[in-house]
Amino acid sequence: MADEFDVVVIGAGPAGYPAAIRGAQNGLKVACVDAWRNRDGTAALGGTCLNAGCIPSKALLESTELYHRLRKEFAVHGIRASGIELDLPTMQQRRAGIVKKMTDGIGALFKAAGVTAIQGHGRLLPDRRVEVTAQDGSKRLLAAKHVVLASGSAPIELKGLPFDGEHIIDSWTALELGAVPKRLGVIGAGAIGLELGSVWRRLGSEVVVLEALNEFLAAADRQLAREALRQLRQQELDIRLGASVSAARTVSGAVEVSYDDAKGSQRVTVDTLIVAVGRRPYTEDLLAPDTGVILDRRGFVTVDEQCATGVDGVWAIGDCVRGPMLAHKGKEEGVMVADLIAGRYGEVNYRAIPSIIYTAPEIATVGATEEQVKASGRAYKVGVFPFLANGRARALEATAGFVKMISAADDDEILGVHIIGPLAGELIAEAVLALEYRASSEDLQRTMHAHPTLSEALHEASLAVDKRSIDSINKS
Ligand SMILES: Cc1cc2nc3c(=O)[nH]c(=O)nc-3n(C[C@H](O)[C@H](O)[C@H](O)COP(=O)(O)OP(=O)(O)OC[C@H]3O[C@@H](n4cnc5c(N)ncnc54)[C@H](O)[C@@H]3O)c2cc1C
Repeated sequence: MADEFDVVVIGAGPAGYPAAIRGAQNGLKVACVDAWRNRDGTAALGGTCLNAGCIPSKALLESTELYHRLRKEFAVHGIRASGIELDLPTMQQRRAGIVKKMTDGIGALFKAAGVTAIQGHGRLLPDRRVEVTAQDGSKRLLAAKHVVLASGSAPIELKGLPFDGEHIIDSWTALELGAVPKRLGVIGAGAIGLELGSVWRRLGSEVVVLEALNEFLAAADRQLAREALRQLRQQELDIRLGASVSAARTVSGAVEVSYDDAKGSQRVTVDTLIVAVGRRPYTEDLLAPDTGVILDRRGFVTVDEQCATGVDGVWAIGDCVRGPMLAHKGKEEGVMVADLIAGRYGEVNYRAIPSIIYTAPEIATVGATEEQVKASGRAYKVGVFPFLANGRARALEATAGFVKMISAADDDEILGVHIIGPLAGELIAEAVLALEYRASSEDLQRTMHAHPTLSEALHEASLAVDKRSIDSINKS
């Protein structure tokens, strides 16, 4: 006999758990099946994001930035410190403690909302039935009116460079290292590679980042990417572009990495090599034959704009479907699907997905790049405001970077905002709201911003769009 639910969600990551909670809020009987196991074999809710991604990486970025600033940047404030010591075990315990609190918190949220959490591997069978295999091998059958697939993603392994958990490692292992590698290699200069490279650089590793593409942050606005590359290289992140890794071998505890660049064959030796070349949808044994759910060529579950798979009552959300692999994108899809299932209105605005790299300075973007707007043929205006001219940034001693705003020449609608600077990840929220409301740069120009705040840089960038910035010289 199957246990019956209105909705069964497979996966309790940032896509699946919000879908489950919203489903329960909508008065539906919901179960959420999750298979996550930590390195020590314990189960935890929250998926990649909470256990091995967003949260632990930000915990370490915060700790290492404080360590770096105390050593290198406090003196200018008139604060001298001596005898500064790194206590990596405590730093790692703090990271693990934050993760534990957050993942336990999801259990509490499930309980409060009335979601049934089921530990085990879920497999979709025909007719919206789900077979759950527990760790001890026992099986349980669930039947649902709706099934939401939220199985997430896994790191891509490079051919010929298998993860060995010690010298050639994935991003999860890179977050849990117990010692600072003397020489660290990172393959991939995307968000994950740059964040992990920054963490270990701040703790003293010599970091070389190998990126196969010739362009840095190829999808980003070019002006923003140029500034980001300049800033990160200043921090002695040795970022090598057009460096295509061909092989790596571990010899006497070190990894010899071979790569090709414009000058020919190159080699670099590191103690630890992080492979951060992207993630692939994780759909292993998720679907029994004949469910009717289609995987595309790259393994993503095929869905429409509303995350429907085309099979009646089966939906898919988050990293296992098309679109940027970001926690907040998955969350909004989860909420949308749960509302649609309940017969309510639900929509995700895929044009207004913010994207953030939590380096120092942070890099945050939403909407179209200048290159994309130019290519579209639409006439546009650009306003750029440097943090150098922002009082709060001066007080913070964090003046690197700028806010760039692009709006349409005809109706002034804001088309894209690109920020590199202090707390850019927080500042971008106002730009996301502006895009969501289809605001014009004039709307922001006429919105009062508190002084002195970093948000004034966004305000001034909107004024700069019409060459009306007050706090910087408007270039004609
Ligand atoms: C180092 C790192 C840093 C990151 N930083 C950020 C960041 O700052 N901001 C951001 O937005 N994104 C970040 N991401 C990406 C983010 O983690 C993902 O986009 C997000 O976790 C995707 O959510 P999801 O729910 O789709 O999948 P996941 O978080 O991967 O969760 C899927 C869950 O489903 C479970 N599962 C899979 N198959 C089954 C099955 N058949 N049965 C039962 N359970 C199953 C998995 O065990 C897992 O618990 C980062 C990723 C990494 C690796």
